Amino acid sequence: MSKNTVQDGLVVSMDYRLTVDGEVLDSSDDEGPLQFLAGYDNIVPGLEREMIGMKIGEKKEVVVKPEEGYGEFDEEAFMDVPRTEFPEDLKLEEGMELHLTNEDDQPQAAYVTSFDDQTVQLDFNHPLAGAELHFNVTVVALREPTKEELDHGHVHEEGHHH
Ligand code: ZN
Repeated sequence: MSKNTVQDGLVVSMDYRLTVDGEVLDSSDDEGPLQFLAGYDNIVPGLEREMIGMKIGEKKEVVVKPEEGYGEFDEEAFMDVPRTEFPEDLKLEEGMELHLTNEDDQPQAAYVTSFDDQTVQLDFNHPLAGAELHFNVTVVALREPTKEELDHGHVHEEGHHH
């Protein structure tokens, strides 16, 4: 198979801009191209699917619906947790992101909606849940992953190791 197009198992470098409701939320302008390992759920599924088959240098505008982005906003995804469940020295702030573990031992992010001395209300929706995502992407480069990257299912960029 030709390795000149975006396909599962290749590391893709892309320039991108993410716009939601006309506001640019994120882009590669400051940090340079983003790398991801295609086929390993490194990016939202709706974007990855549209990028499969793109060539180096190719640009594309992709609109991703919530169900293929960060999910629909779920009114039920709020939970009240006793303050005692959290470390005493944890300084809570509204909107802060917490990294928790769910019943299946999977990492899960939650956001503090409100809190008092007794109770902390958590929101398990992703901040972009319910949003239609507009991506402008350009494929900058493609390469084979290292064996370690393939084993881990993600890219090891310089200075980052998981
Ligand atoms: Zn790793």
